[in-house]
Amino acid sequence: MTDLQQSAQYDAIVIGAGMSGMYQLYRLRELGLRVKVLEAGTGVGGTWYWNRYPGARFDSESYSYQFSFSKDLLNEWDWSEHFSGQPETLRYLNHVADKFDLRKDIQFRSRVKSAYYQEATNTWDVTLEDGSIFTSHFLITAVGPLSAPTMPTIPGVETFQGQSCHTARWPHEPVSFEGKRVAVIGTGATGVQTIQEVSKTAKHLTVFQRTPNWCAPLLNAKIGTEEMEKIRAGYDALFQRCMETFSCFIHTAVPRGTFEVTLEERQAFWEELYASPGFGIWLGNFNDILTNREANAELSAFVANKIRQRVKDQTVAEKLIPKNHGFGTRRVPMETKYYECYNQDNVKLVDISETPIERITPTGIKTSDAEYAFDIIIYATGFDAITGSFDRIDIRGVDGARLKDRWKHGPETYLGMTVDGFPNMMMLVGPHMALGNIPRTIEFNVEWVSDLVKYATDHNLQRIEPTPADVQAWTDHVKSLGEGNLMFEVNSWMTGWNSNVEGKQVRIINRYSGSAPDWRAKCNEVAARGYQEMAVG
Ligand code: NAP
Repeated sequence: MTDLQQSAQYDAIVIGAGMSGMYQLYRLRELGLRVKVLEAGTGVGGTWYWNRYPGARFDSESYSYQFSFSKDLLNEWDWSEHFSGQPETLRYLNHVADKFDLRKDIQFRSRVKSAYYQEATNTWDVTLEDGSIFTSHFLITAVGPLSAPTMPTIPGVETFQGQSCHTARWPHEPVSFEGKRVAVIGTGATGVQTIQEVSKTAKHLTVFQRTPNWCAPLLNAKIGTEEMEKIRAGYDALFQRCMETFSCFIHTAVPRGTFEVTLEERQAFWEELYASPGFGIWLGNFNDILTNREANAELSAFVANKIRQRVKDQTVAEKLIPKNHGFGTRRVPMETKYYECYNQDNVKLVDISETPIERITPTGIKTSDAEYAFDIIIYATGFDAITGSFDRIDIRGVDGARLKDRWKHGPETYLGMTVDGFPNMMMLVGPHMALGNIPRTIEFNVEWVSDLVKYATDHNLQRIEPTPADVQAWTDHVKSLGEGNLMFEVNSWMTGWNSNVEGKQVRIINRYSGSAPDWRAKCNEVAARGYQEMAVG
């Protein structure tokens, strides 16, 4: 046993048993370390455990999203759809937990309340809500970028007498909408998936939309046995491609600007993309749609016309067309007959930018011009994204400094994985790293962190952290990459903006918006140089 191992109960504590926490556990166990994963839920899966709302499914291709680290796992798991539903994804993640016997090192029903760094021992004290304390040398956060749900700050929310639920805290028992008057507040990726599903069975569905989003057809399809074998035979090439593309998806921008081709050519290309499955129209488009305003405006006009063609009532169609941001400058919700829902007699759109919600009442929702009665209210109101799940834990580093205070004006990190003043703490899928197709980022992120942990353990290093200068340089670099990107000119979770969280009505650059290969190359350089940037001792 090394000195390090004697000073704490565990070598590493991982907070969260979603995809990143699960893989981190697998890797650290391989190194022979004593690891404990603390998870608030009753099962593994993170995002796919919590988000059980009706219609929840992948917006990226199932086979590009799964873990790629185990050939065995790839060989034994068949996907039933190109874009799998949440129940299948959760079954898959439970299968991963079974296969690698992960649960024995995961403590469920364990929400972490605080994590304090102890300078005397170079260890972390991690306290759960029930008061129990764990000590470890390394603290690894696997808390997810979209895992702190936010309810709207509308007066009267707690007074509603019917059933109400946030999509990310959906009950484990099925909820029937048959014969029910249902309200959905929110029209992001979650709201869109919920609306199109609930509209199939609800007696009446009222959608409360504050800002419309640009949605695009998902075009999901089943995968037959033969097709699955073909997909499996192409796994090596598929994962290789994901490592080469800008954001790790199978879709990537074409090497041409919008105006390098004729009007007819670009219209034909957009028709083709609109008729193709998945994120192609967003991520496989011309390479300047998110930087060239004219290009973005022309593409937006193309998609607006699609909405006008699909929605019968043109007054409703106009309400569904975003006016304050261009196509793709917010995360594009993928849809299946979403726009056609509004042609159904049982679906009504209420534009709350015109007639705001004044309050939730015991029987329903009161806007500035009407009162609606409901049996069920669904809050698809999103998350305190990226830093929200960190803010909810009292994380204190050297001299008791709080991470939340340190990040008051936006995150400061080195490579998106470490922060000076918070020694021996590493983040998985934290701020300032390439998000994109998240499992691809997770695998790299976990492997990089595991190598760093191994290096520190092999060298019996007590304390590792980046230098303040490197944190400043990386933070400046991330900010400079965001300049000129139209996404950072729009209020959305991707710019840290949240109308329901105090202090978060400001836009910040909280995401690395360069290419994933560039980010990985930078991280690999640091590792190859023996982590010189990390102050080690
Ligand atoms: P979101 O994109 O932040 O959308 C939240 C919605 O709630 C917005 O329409 C917002 O309106 C509305 N809202 C919030 N507070 C409100 C209030 N007080 N009054 C009225 N409306 C309010 O959240 P999300 O839809 O949960 O999606 C978040 C992210 O999760 C997505 O962008 C995506 O990355 C991920 N996701 C992925 C999948 C998938 O891959 N399958 C599925 C779902 C979600 P404003 O726009 O006006 O603020």
